[in-house]
Amino acid sequence: MAPETATGTIKATQPPTEATQPKVQRERLPLGPIKNIHVYWLAGMSCDGCTIAVAGATNPGIEGLLLGTVPAMPKMLLHHPVLSVEAGADFVKSFQDASHGKLEGEPYVVVYEGSVADERIAKRTGGYFSAMGVEAIEDADGHGQPVPTATWLSRLAPGAAATIAIGTCATWGGIPSAEGNPTGAMSVMDLLGADYRSALGLPVINVPGCAPVGDNFTETVFAILLFLQGLGPLPAFDELGRPAWLFKETVHQGCTRAGYYEEGTFASRYGDPECLVELGCWGPVVNCNIVKRGAINHMGGCMKAGGVCIGCTMPGFPDKFAPFYKTPPGATLSTFASHGVGTVMRRLRRLSNREASREHRWDVLGHVPSGWAHVQHQTVMDKAIKFFYQKWQHFRAKAPGRPPGQEDRLWGADRPGVRSDYLDDSAVRGDDR
Ligand code: SF4
Ligand code: SF4
Repeated sequence: MAPETATGTIKATQPPTEATQPKVQRERLPLGPIKNIHVYWLAGMSCDGCTIAVAGATNPGIEGLLLGTVPAMPKMLLHHPVLSVEAGADFVKSFQDASHGKLEGEPYVVVYEGSVADERIAKRTGGYFSAMGVEAIEDADGHGQPVPTATWLSRLAPGAAATIAIGTCATWGGIPSAEGNPTGAMSVMDLLGADYRSALGLPVINVPGCAPVGDNFTETVFAILLFLQGLGPLPAFDELGRPAWLFKETVHQGCTRAGYYEEGTFASRYGDPECLVELGCWGPVVNCNIVKRGAINHMGGCMKAGGVCIGCTMPGFPDKFAPFYKTPPGATLSTFASHGVGTVMRRLRRLSNREASREHRWDVLGHVPSGWAHVQHQTVMDKAIKFFYQKWQHFRAKAPGRPPGQEDRLWGADRPGVRSDYLDDSAVRGDDR
């Protein structure tokens, strides 16, 4: 009798072999218009964080893709071990149909979440690390054996329109593949190799992050589907298969605290508003857009929420960023330089900021009419700096206002500090002109 698994009682079937598996039909592009597209979601050694992140995506949202209401998009038929309504044999049957080429011409995409375990290690003791469904294979007693998700991946990937690795575990191995791990965990790319191409000729597409930004995933899927439909160009991917427009810049380049870094002011405790580099932020060397885009619905993101970057989108994560929450060695040099230059820049900027915080009128009248607090008057030094600053600012350019001698006579330099004149009826009517 077939054993039970997390996905229910599974009907034993003969798995496809090299000989029985249909030859992948290489398609010509574009495929569109496509009415439906199947998405086979496989979860290897994962925490389901990627699923949660994608469920929270808003631009486009997963609901719109599932309902087929996103303009120009085909309807997405999602086969997901957690989100699908079907369970057990009914759920696994669709995966078997796809691997046997029985989808009646409808294209499919494979999405893999979590690391891919090296199942040969588990097999030595008769076990498995990560599996879905059961098939009657290789057991002398005729018992069913769980089918590793790695096996599902190698069955489905060749016929897929695209294979997408989501999250850092699937893209680069992630935490399960950290130094000393017992599972031989690896990424989708490590399993399928550099020569892998989907049925449409695409290498593995990688959307990293732990957890990834849900919108990064849905936007990438959206761009790929536009391409498959023939409505858009092939999206730009970088040399590691990341959507280039999402992962080109570093966290630091989009960080809301980068101005503090530049001015050499750093947080010494969590909760401080300044740059977090001395608390262990790796943002300057990490490709990630979470601060710019927000974690969910354009809200949140590590530094906005007060956290340091630990490099979770990077292939070197976690080992190359450990120990977390310790100043990165490279940051020592750059913050030293930033402290020096920033101290000077900061002071000069404060001066400019004070100058920019006064209306021109207030300078002329020598008075700031604020009822909130006393605002310091321009000092002689302020006036001198302003004089030279404006000479430079307007060098070979037209200064605002009228030429000397033609200034506005209502409250100009010839009638300084006369607020009563300004309020005088005749002045307002212009009789004075
Ligand atoms: S908190 Fe990190 S990413 Fe932000 S400015 Fe500082 S070093 Fe850069
Ligand atoms: S900012 Fe750093 S820790 Fe946060 S999601 Fe991006 S790479 Fe990961």
